Formats: sequence, C-alpha cells, structure tokens
Amino acid sequence: MSKHRSDTIGGRQPCGGLVLKSAREIALMRKAGAVVYRVLDHMKEMAKPGAVTRDLNRRAEEIIAQAGATALFKGVVNPQARYPFPAALCISVNEEIVHGIPGDRALCEGDIVSIDCGVRLNGYCGDAAVTLAVGAVSAAARHLMDVTRQVLELAIREIAPGTSWSEIAGKMQRFVEENNLSVVRDFVGHGIGRKMHEDPKIPNFWDGRGRNEDFRLQEGMVLAIEPMVNLGSHLTRGTADSWTVTTRDGEPSAHFEHTVAVTRDGADVLTDGRS
Ligand code: MG
Ligand code: MG
Repeated sequence: MSKHRSDTIGGRQPCGGLVLKSAREIALMRKAGAVVYRVLDHMKEMAKPGAVTRDLNRRAEEIIAQAGATALFKGVVNPQARYPFPAALCISVNEEIVHGIPGDRALCEGDIVSIDCGVRLNGYCGDAAVTLAVGAVSAAARHLMDVTRQVLELAIREIAPGTSWSEIAGKMQRFVEENNLSVVRDFVGHGIGRKMHEDPKIPNFWDGRGRNEDFRLQEGMVLAIEPMVNLGSHLTRGTADSWTVTTRDGEPSAHFEHTVAVTRDGADVLTDGRS
C-alpha cells in the first residue's frame, strides 16, 4: 500500500522521526517479508483468466493466518476514503494504479493485475507488490510491466549509505521516461518497520520541488520502494469506491514493490523469498 504524496506520516515532519533498525529487527522484518513473498508467489498461480479477485484475497488471508501473521491493509483508514480498507490485498486491474478492492471481478485474458500485500509478523512489517500478466498480454502491456520491474531493480542497485534519495529518484524517473512511460507522482513509497508507513516518503521521481524532503541513505534504514508506472500520462483519478486510484487517461498502469534494508555496502531485499 502506497502513501498519498501529501499525507503526513505519523503526524510528523518528513524525516523528523526516522527509525533506524538493528540487525535483529531486520531479521524479523525478513520473516514478515517471507510471508508476503509466499502470498505473492501463490497469486502468480491464481491470476489466470476467469479467476475472481475476491478468491485471490481469500487465499491470501488463509496464507497470512496460517503463518501467524496479520494483514496490514485490512482496516486501514485514509483521509480520501469513506470506510476502512476491507481486504488483505490491494488488487488493481489495468488502468487501476493502486488500492483496488477485491470483489466479484473476474480476470480476463490480456489483463494486467497489480497485487499488493503487507503483513505484520512478531511486531514487524513487510510490504511488496507485483504486476502479473493474465494469459497473453499486448506488447505495450509487457513493456510497461518489464520497465516497472526494471526501475525497481535499478533503485535497489543504486542504494548505498551516503547517497541522496533524490539522485536515485531522478535516475528512476529518467529510466521510465526514456522508455516512453511516465512515473506516478501522487503516490510514493515509505519507510517501514513496526508500522507500515514510517518516515521518510520515498518518491519515484524528482522534480526538485521536494528538496526539503530529500534525505541521505543510512545503514539500518528500511524502505518500501514502490514505483507506479503508467503507459500514458502520470495523472491519476479517484473513483466512486473512494479507494481505487486509476489513471486519468484510462491507460494501464503497473506497480512493483520490495521492502529493502540499507546495509553497510548496499541493499538487502527482505521480500524476495530468502529466509
Ligand atoms: Mg505495498
Ligand atoms: Mg507500500
């Protein structure tokens, strides 16, 4: 689950309350991340033509409960929405960018489906997302998914203590735009730890206007990095259900996310299934 760019996190100024994690805490976050990985891995099997999004969510809730974890998204309140988020997964199809609600929709051949999952296990959180192809998809949709996955990988490769996030965010935006796609500005990633949304905010673009929200990476930071990339323009639109965010132009969008710890010499991905 991503943050609205303009929301405050934990009621504090950005970077004001940043919590560095110990090696022990990062090991606990990896255990939470492994549950998220297991859920998303199951979704790869389930996201076939005819699958109903409510059934994907039901399976995810079973896996989370069996692991002794709790779903982070269920019950989340946000200032834009009329009611708490009702499911463990956000499932966002085609032009839906993020925060789609599972329901009676059946997936169709050619759809792309973004599935976002977060859990808390033993007090620590993990958060990750993938976009999956339902059957055969168009070349444009494949390009969109490939570039979105690659821009997350690029960000992870660039992580090192001392690097300013703005440098990485600028590289992410350039990579996406060189591929004739656009980066969503209205939603951003976030720090993560005992809470799903901690400081700082993690934008996937840099327009120079958020200079006071820039920060340098430090060993022990744990970040949920989650580029959302659109085939058309970067502009977004709310929908009648008050949660789902779509592209304004109706073109498809993709979303990949990992929970990543900053280490002494680089990055350690906590949601890639290694335990
Ligand atoms: Mg997420
Ligand atoms: Mg997130």
